[in-house]
This record gives sequence, structure tokens and C-alpha cells, in this order.
Amino acid sequence: MQFNVTQPDPLAFDRKHLWHPYTSMINPLPVYHAVSAQGTRIKLTDGRELIDGMSSWWAAIHGYNHPILNEAVKQQLGEMSHLMFGGITHDPAIELGRKLLSIVPEGLSKIFFCDSGSVSVEVAMKMALQYQHSCDKPQKHRFLTIKKGYHGDTFHAMSVSDPETGMHSVFQHSLPVQLFAPSPRISFDAEWDHSDTLPIAELLDQHYREIAAVILEPIVQGAGGMRFYHPQYLRDIRELCDRHQVLLIFDEIATGFGRTGKLFAAEHAGVTPDIMCIGKALTGGYLTLAATLTTEDTARAISAGSPGVFMHGPTFMGNPLACATANSSIDLLLSTNWSEKIGLIEQQLKRELAPAADLPSVADVRVLGAIGVIEMRWPVKMAQLQSFFVNRGVWIRPFGKLLYLMPPFIVNKDELHRLCEVMVEAAACRDFFIQA
Ligand SMILES: *Cc1c(COP(=O)(O)O)cnc(C)c1O
Repeated sequence: MQFNVTQPDPLAFDRKHLWHPYTSMINPLPVYHAVSAQGTRIKLTDGRELIDGMSSWWAAIHGYNHPILNEAVKQQLGEMSHLMFGGITHDPAIELGRKLLSIVPEGLSKIFFCDSGSVSVEVAMKMALQYQHSCDKPQKHRFLTIKKGYHGDTFHAMSVSDPETGMHSVFQHSLPVQLFAPSPRISFDAEWDHSDTLPIAELLDQHYREIAAVILEPIVQGAGGMRFYHPQYLRDIRELCDRHQVLLIFDEIATGFGRTGKLFAAEHAGVTPDIMCIGKALTGGYLTLAATLTTEDTARAISAGSPGVFMHGPTFMGNPLACATANSSIDLLLSTNWSEKIGLIEQQLKRELAPAADLPSVADVRVLGAIGVIEMRWPVKMAQLQSFFVNRGVWIRPFGKLLYLMPPFIVNKDELHRLCEVMVEAAACRDFFIQA
């Protein structure tokens, strides 16, 4: 069946045959046709240039087409692009392992490389289950999390993502049923109040005998609502988990590599989880790569139990091309004064998004590190708003009631000013929102 493969109009072909994220195949939203990207700019086939406000979903922290990252890819390509990790190892993976252990929270020492964020969450959850199994507690097989979280689109990752936005209803018969505490109320820099951890403490008290692990996005709940919560919440959870012999998993896939102002969001609380997932910005947005890290104790228990091995092994595990790019991206990040730069982005976001707080259509404005959020009172009209942003020369991709920015760290003052200005302008325009 060769119909339409010769369709001359590429956008018409795309519309008819290519599925995009979270999109209808019958009545898809319009897509924009990009031809290249350079630094902070995305170039469309019609010649328009857009300032990137999204870092391709938290990933492209150094911008696009970076000469140093390009060089790392080319060099590795000349050595080997891939080799199976079963029975073989290589320098890119070893070097990446060393680098990661020098920057992740202290205590994490064992690394499992995998291909995407969702898979790293599956791996983390399997580690927790195998750990409890090895500790002769197979009845500890459920997970406890907080509402408004997002951990990915595979089945177990979905099962711990927010029950409403995570579309549990469609898949309920295939999803394991997990435990959900309310999402934290106390925001990042508000005054702490221990009542915030009471509901999750109660759930742990009631159910710890059947809970393998608590899984959370530390500090920033990303795709589930872009909420920033108090570091003390994590310190309390750490204590509760220890008390109940429940493992603690941090999903740092969105927050890792500087985005929140620390290399990892866990550092805001000074807490080390038992298992940690990273991905997204790991390769600077070049290639898909993720990793699940754990402690000596957890790894030891898993390996001491039956079957004595960890039961996972993706085909593209430790892909050399992706590892080499990650090495280069981490070097690049650490060689810049990233902390100061993100501090400047944070200050500018706070200053320039603040005017939106006075708009009647706006519920909240919040900023942490290089993340700026305007939460609206109503959901956005996606197609209209997207077209407005593109016409204004910026790439901002809202979802639900949220307009948000997470620009590449190389964004300059004028570009960031433009991104903020256009976002505030959009927030002021009622026509872009579906009002109740
Ligand atoms: C994006 C994301 C994931 C899923 O990662 P994929 O690479 O898209 O599978 C998991 N957890 C968090 C916090 C994320 O932001």
C-alpha cells in the first residue's frame, strides 16, 4: 500500500501519517515545520526564526547545534556508534559513570544506563521490588507517591503519575493501583509547616507493610502541574521512609543538571534518595539516554537475593554515542559558571513575569531557577495560542492552564526579555483561554 507516500506536501503527509505527542491522528493540532536549530533559535522552513523557550522539554540546556557537542558526536562516531553492553564495556560509559558519581548526591554509587526517562523509572521501580524481595518482604510491592506528579508514559510510570492528568481512567484495568498522598501545599520559599507531611505520613503508617518505595519528583513537580514545594518535605519523607523500611526514589529526569539552580534538586534539601532517575538534559538534548542510580546497600541487597542479578537489560544500554555526548555536555556545563547564569535567569524571570500576577486571568506566577510559570485560571486554546507565539517569534508550548518557560541556559538577556514579554502579553489576552 503505497498510497500517499508520494504526497508532495510534507506537512500534509505529516498530518495524515505521523503521530505527535498526545495528539489525535484524525484531527491533529497544527505542527510547525522546522529545518534547523542553532543556539537558542529554531528556524522554520518558511524562514521564520523562533527564540526557544522550552529547551525541547528540559533537555537542550546548551542550545542547539553546539560546536563542542557536535564534535563529541563526530569523534565518537569514528570509534563506534554502538556496541552491546552485555559482556562488553567501553570508555564513554566508564567516563560517564565517573563523572556522574562526582556530581550526584553523596551515597549513590551504582549506575544502570537505559534509553529514556520512562524506562529509567521502570528500572527504579523494579529495583525497589527486587530489593524488597531480596529482603524477604515480597508483600512490599506497592508504591506511594503524591498527586500532580509525572513519571513517564510506560505502565508502571503511569501508575504513579497523577490519576487525573495521567489518564488512569483509560488504562485502569491494566494499571497497578498505587497509593496517592495529596500533593505538597507549602511552596518552595514559604514558611514550613509540618502539617504538610501529615497526610503522607499517615498513609505510610497505614500501609508500610505493603509499600516497596515512595517515588517523587524532588522540589519541582513538572509535567503534572509545574509546582515547586518546600525542601523540608523531602527531609521529612526521608525520615519516614527510613523508619518504615521503605525505599525513597527521586525522579530527577526534569530537574537534573542545573535547571532548579542546583545540579540536582535533591541538593535543596540535602537528601540522598536510595534510587535516583536522570535523563532529559543528560546528553544536552542530543540523544536519548537516561540512568537509574542507587546506593551500595540497595545494590548489594538486590544482588544477594534470588535470582542474584538485576532483571533488566535494554538493547541500547550504555550507547557509546549517547554516553560520549553526555560526557561532553556535563563537561561543558561544569566549565561554565552555570550557577551564576541560572541565578541571573531566575532574577530576570521573577522581575519580568511579575506583572502577570496582577492580571485577572492569572491564578499564580512562580519562578525557580531557570523555570518560569504563569498559571492561568482557565485552560489554553492551544492552536490559537501556539500560532500567536510563533507569530511573535518565540517557541513556547503551553499545556492545560500553564504557560511556562524553561529556556536553554545560554539564553541572553534580550532573548529572555522577549520570551517574558510575549508570555505576559498572552496571559493578558482572554481570547486565548477557554473560560468557564
Ligand atoms: C519527561 C519525564 C519523564 C519521562 O521521560 P521520557 O524520556 O519522556 O520517557 C519521567 N519523569 C519526569 C519527571 C519527566 O519530566
